[in-house]
Amino acid sequence: MRFGSMAISNDSHQHFLDGLMHFLHECPTSWHTTAHLRELFISHGFLELNEKDAWQLQPGGRYILERDGTFAACILPKNNPTHATILGSHSDSPALKLKPNAEFKRDNMIMLGTEIYGSPLLSSWLNRDLGIAGRICYANADGSIHEALVNIQDSPVVIPQLAIHLDRGVNDQGLLLNKQEHLSALAMVATHDSNKPYLLSLLQEQVPFASLISHDLMLYPLQQPAYLGKNKESIAGYRLDNLCSAYASAIAILHQSEPSDHAIKLLVCWDHEEIGSETATGAASPFLPHLLERLLLGMDHGRETYLRVLSQSFCISVDLAHAVHPNYMEKHEPNHRPYLNQGIVLKINAQQRYATSAQTAAKLIHIANGQQIPIQTFVVRSDMPCGSTIGPITATLAGIPTVDIGIPQLSMHSARELVGTADCVYLFQLLREALSCCSPS
Ligand code: ZN
Repeated sequence: MRFGSMAISNDSHQHFLDGLMHFLHECPTSWHTTAHLRELFISHGFLELNEKDAWQLQPGGRYILERDGTFAACILPKNNPTHATILGSHSDSPALKLKPNAEFKRDNMIMLGTEIYGSPLLSSWLNRDLGIAGRICYANADGSIHEALVNIQDSPVVIPQLAIHLDRGVNDQGLLLNKQEHLSALAMVATHDSNKPYLLSLLQEQVPFASLISHDLMLYPLQQPAYLGKNKESIAGYRLDNLCSAYASAIAILHQSEPSDHAIKLLVCWDHEEIGSETATGAASPFLPHLLERLLLGMDHGRETYLRVLSQSFCISVDLAHAVHPNYMEKHEPNHRPYLNQGIVLKINAQQRYATSAQTAAKLIHIANGQQIPIQTFVVRSDMPCGSTIGPITATLAGIPTVDIGIPQLSMHSARELVGTADCVYLFQLLREALSCCSPS
């Protein structure tokens, strides 16, 4: 397998892939992702902006901005800005979220009740060692209120599947899970003698608080991401959708050694894509138009410049695509079958469930061709509904021409997804080049 013009054994490619594996391990939730990206960019000299401050920005300056689980990073141009090149991805993934009052007992078993976040493949969450990660708000003894990230890895919980002897039809009729009754996790068999609730005791081992006020806690698979195949042809892991895109975008920005003359180079990694994006931090919020406008105001440009910049900008929306499944070939449109490790997928839909147009596709293909990066095309079968992503949402809000792309993936939305390693590197190379070369739309 070759990457662009270089062989797979290239050290920098392996370094990139190992970095992705580390990123997957460090980021079990969107909030961990934001925190990790923040540290990464600050360690590379980016300055942190705060939404509540007035911004005075420098030409060629490098900045980051967080809003909860959404993260943005930008490199401003040296001269008057004329356009922006935007890489969009998302930081969240389908998951099981602990209910506010999660803990209850079933005889001698301590259980944690869950709600469904997004659209996980539920069966894939059964019989796995699961950690608990997210954020908590708590009070200290002096009454002060704080927030902290937590990641409980050493006390796994599990959602055990009913044995086949008690569910005789399961292999022929399929597994049917009642979302209220069948998705509570077994946290422990009660030898726990303290009067303190079990979950509280786990959290206090992480953060020594006086009282817990509230939490956003997700279950996540503890199994580490892994290379599969004799030559590490693919990667299996949780949250590949969409952390491989977020990571490739982040590293593409970090590889920009020089600011552009006139282009703003911008990355936005959105939270809440998996639940529809219509939140204060999601892609349907005014975060992106506000950020772009404030970047221009901070460089002493007015609203007209902002609107002119919008009209010439280009957004690359990056999210995973469906690879052809070897056991279900008929699920794909026969002339549009993306294969693992055969390049970046251009996503197209006549109803604009993907924002790609002939013009934005041409622009993307031109960049890919220049780097010898292969492009595949996906269109859904005409008798099946089409998925969507952040591309059409941000395109609608900001009026920026957008292309929807991604790398092919199997087992999308399962607790262990699969992508090709060559595609991960292609994506990074393509995004790096898109930021380096992009001219106004
Ligand atoms: Zn996605």
